[in-house]
Amino acid sequence: MERDEKDYLEHCLALLKERGVTVEDIADCARYLQSGYHHSLKTEELCLSVLKVLEKREVQFAVMTGIALDKAAEQGLLPDKELEGLLMEDAPLYGVDEVLAYGICNTYGSIALTNFGFIDKDKYGIIRKLNEAGKGTGRCNTFLDDLVGAIAASAASRFAHNVEEE
Ligand code: MG
Repeated sequence: MERDEKDYLEHCLALLKERGVTVEDIADCARYLQSGYHHSLKTEELCLSVLKVLEKREVQFAVMTGIALDKAAEQGLLPDKELEGLLMEDAPLYGVDEVLAYGICNTYGSIALTNFGFIDKDKYGIIRKLNEAGKGTGRCNTFLDDLVGAIAASAASRFAHNVEEE
């Protein structure tokens, strides 16, 4: 049976939930990014925008890849122990976590990329929680915090681009 995008959407939502992230958490970050521009965005509109981003297959593949690496690192399952060490300490110069996240933003243009850079520095909401929970706790959120930031940045940029909802 061929898998369609809905299969991966459900799979990704389950993965995010398992790692402590809900659609509402990401929508809250998107609201924060858009707060200077669209004051009247409702939670449902923001959640819908997050789901639209998560419906894209390349976003789903980025989520699956990043979360698998985080989980493998914290379970001690990576074949390269040097890499495992870098992921476990969330080494600032590693940077591949951001590069994977850029892949998500690239689908939504330069506004998404700028939004991502901002929230990555600012570490608002769930992103701050994930970042703190992944430092010296045995938990690895090295990829997850950037994935969440990129999805929020993309969801926010959809409003800036006036993307029509179907
Ligand atoms: Mg990171």
